[in-house]
Amino acid sequence: MPKQYAVIGLGRFGSAIAQALYSANNEVLGIDINEDRIDEHQDIVSHAIIADSTEELSMRNIGIRNFDTVIVSIGDNMQASILTVVILHELGVKHIVAKALNKHHGIVLSKVGATEVVYPDRDMALRIAHKLMTPNIIDY
Ligand code: ATP
Repeated sequence: MPKQYAVIGLGRFGSAIAQALYSANNEVLGIDINEDRIDEHQDIVSHAIIADSTEELSMRNIGIRNFDTVIVSIGDNMQASILTVVILHELGVKHIVAKALNKHHGIVLSKVGATEVVYPDRDMALRIAHKLMTPNIIDY
């Protein structure tokens, strides 16, 4: 059965995740504060809307708590990423995956309610290193 995902922040990482989930026949709502990003994503996710995820009322009105998983992919603005996770947690979102820029950011995200923290640069570096050492492994 398709799952319902919301991706907040459609930068390179958020966009790639949103497209991969949508390609696998899931429902994907893309959310970004930047209108250009939303225009770019109209045809590559189920729905794309302009909203500021640090505004609790906006997130409540979207019905964010009904999504199976919400991915927070706001990188550069740590304050916005942390506040977004706080709001999602308070609104009762069960599975919150948040992108961290560094270890300290990740620790804070976990403390305020992220169920999973990802470090895209580090994770990709480790994956490539692993692949280089085991060239015959099947990647997907
Ligand atoms: P990446 O490293 O994934 O390429 P980026 O450098 O493009 O990311 P970031 O600053 O990390 O951009 O932010 C990712 C996205 O999050 C941007 O498209 C930005 O408009 C969006 N964003 C930032 N703050 C908010 C917010 N409060 N609500 C919704 N979207 C936001």
